[in-house]
Amino acid sequence: MSATRAWSTGAGATDIGPRATNQDAYLSDGRVHIVADGMGGHEAGEAASAAVVDVFASLATRDVITPDDISLALIQAQRAVLQVSRTAGGESGTTVTGAVEVTYAGAPWWMVINVGDSRTYLVGDGIAHQITLDHSYVQELVDAGRITADQARHHPDRNIVTRAIGDGVPQFDAWLVPVTPGMRLVIASDGLTNAVDDRRIGHIASVPADPHDAAVALVDAALAAGTGDNVTVVVADAREGHTPPGLDVSPWRQWADGAEVDENEDDSTQTSRRRRRA
Ligand code: MG
Repeated sequence: MSATRAWSTGAGATDIGPRATNQDAYLSDGRVHIVADGMGGHEAGEAASAAVVDVFASLATRDVITPDDISLALIQAQRAVLQVSRTAGGESGTTVTGAVEVTYAGAPWWMVINVGDSRTYLVGDGIAHQITLDHSYVQELVDAGRITADQARHHPDRNIVTRAIGDGVPQFDAWLVPVTPGMRLVIASDGLTNAVDDRRIGHIASVPADPHDAAVALVDAALAAGTGDNVTVVVADAREGHTPPGLDVSPWRQWADGAEVDENEDDSTQTSRRRRRA
């Protein structure tokens, strides 16, 4: 095996759904698998999500990507979306989430990132484990114990995000996720997750061997469930690569088996400001 070959493979699918435009964008290429869900009128939402995808596309074919490279890309993404807002003469923003192959502590990892309310899941044994935490008003209500996760999916304020690329806040959530061959990630905009619950996402994503077939099956499930939004799904598989246990990943956080291993929780999941999507 070449030292420079990507160890993951993935594919995406998108559908405009019942909307007039598709403001989602995705990239599944080389070492990078991301979904961005843009917001803003007059084509600014499409431009915002496309700008973030462009920034990450420049990483996709690198021989080695480090967590610091991802930090830099997210700063560049913030700048690019602020420029979109200036050009469009209004506010624009976008979510971004997904997984990038990185090298850290001498080992391969997925670096899962999130800003906003798109989601990245780890799928295993037919179950979808949500890795990311939504930056959304309804997630705050769930965290406070005022509504359930299922009620959040139908809540009238479910489209209020509390963090977005383009809001000028440089923070992002990130986890280093150990790699094992055969593991599958599902990355999706809220057009999927508001229409299809996690149980079904886990079932559907587990059946097709091919990542593209799985992505299409999930988009089709959202459309069949009557999604009210653009739907975008990327499915990424680790073909090879193995992260040995016991590595020190500080100052980053490790995610494993549904738990964050590092108890040095930072404040990056706190609310900044709220923005209602179109
Ligand atoms: Mg959406």
